[in-house]
Amino acid sequence: MEPVTAERAARSLQDLGYRLTPQRIMILEAVLESDDHVTAEDLYEQVKTRYPHISFSTVYRTMELLRDAGFVTQTDLGGGRWQYHPVDKATHHHLICQGCGHVAEVEEGVFAGLQRELRERHGFDATLTHFAIFGRCGNCRKAS
Ligand SMILES: [Zn+2]
Ligand SMILES: [Zn+2]
Repeated sequence: MEPVTAERAARSLQDLGYRLTPQRIMILEAVLESDDHVTAEDLYEQVKTRYPHISFSTVYRTMELLRDAGFVTQTDLGGGRWQYHPVDKATHHHLICQGCGHVAEVEEGVFAGLQRELRERHGFDATLTHFAIFGRCGNCRKAS
């Protein structure tokens, strides 16, 4: 997958007719250059250090644009907040234990069989990117 850079995302948002304010560019850079998942709250805190007047809804709205344009994934990993991840780094899924809260990563290929089946049986090309799968981890299963 082509790396998602802040410049590429900025150009694309501009092509879609959105105005690129310095605040918005800082949000783009902060999320797309991060190797970890970030929440809109994290980004808001970061951007606020340079632009104290930015509103949370500006940050949230920018993340929605980036999601709709296909640059970031938006996943609820169980904390009740959306976690954003650049799509080129979101080539994994998460196993989230509802017993102890442990989060593990599994490789993207775990859904290959399901994807094939959906295509063959339903003619459906499923987008299965960066899933949060809830359940119970090995330790919690042993304990119960
Ligand atoms: Zn992830
Ligand atoms: Zn557990």
